[in-house]
Amino acid sequence: MGCITNLEIYAKENKVPIIQKEGLNFLIKYIKENNVKNILEIGSAIGYSSINMALASDDIQVTTIEKNEKMYNETIKNVKDFNLENRVNVIYGDALDTTIQGKYDLIFIDAAKAQYIKFFEKYKQNLQTNGAIITDNLNFHGLANHPEEIHSKNLKALVRKINNYKDFLIKNKEFHTIFYELGDGIAVSKYNKMD
Ligand code: SAH
Ligand code: MG
Repeated sequence: MGCITNLEIYAKENKVPIIQKEGLNFLIKYIKENNVKNILEIGSAIGYSSINMALASDDIQVTTIEKNEKMYNETIKNVKDFNLENRVNVIYGDALDTTIQGKYDLIFIDAAKAQYIKFFEKYKQNLQTNGAIITDNLNFHGLANHPEEIHSKNLKALVRKINNYKDFLIKNKEFHTIFYELGDGIAVSKYNKMD
């Protein structure tokens, strides 16, 4: 039988960037309050967030995409340990090259931060009209708000990309986004009502 605490320990020991507790609690609350039944996740890592989301209610279905083979295998193993094979569908591949059919109540974007706009643009077609796209790590461990503290070129570029994504969300006419300063920074984007 699977154990959530063991997943947390594994993530810590292996430096796997699983969602923070506060962010996870927010996600679970959102799922319950909005009666979310099917979820698409970009970025499984070890399956920690997928498993937790699936456990929110036993009629929830999760599809999760992971491009790293080791991570994918880890997710498969963990999903099996929790006997969730029927409710968590793990897809091995790059989310930018994957085609997903069907509509989801919730799309959780939690993969390579530099690609966030691409993920958003690609997967919005899989969102139910009243669904939400939730994005994690918009504060990027606090760095996004303090770019002057970053010296590495790569990190600077990444922070710029995250800030571009935030800008993209703020200016987006099709979606309305609310930013939450909890966990590592979370955004909830929903279609603007056309009337
Ligand atoms: N959602 C997980 C954490 C994901 S960490 C949790 O909270 O438990 C981000 C993961 O996204 C990494 O495992 C990385 O390999 C994966 N990833 C990055 N870019 C991706 C892409 N283009 N397609 C699929 N997976 C990707
Ligand atoms: Mg994350």
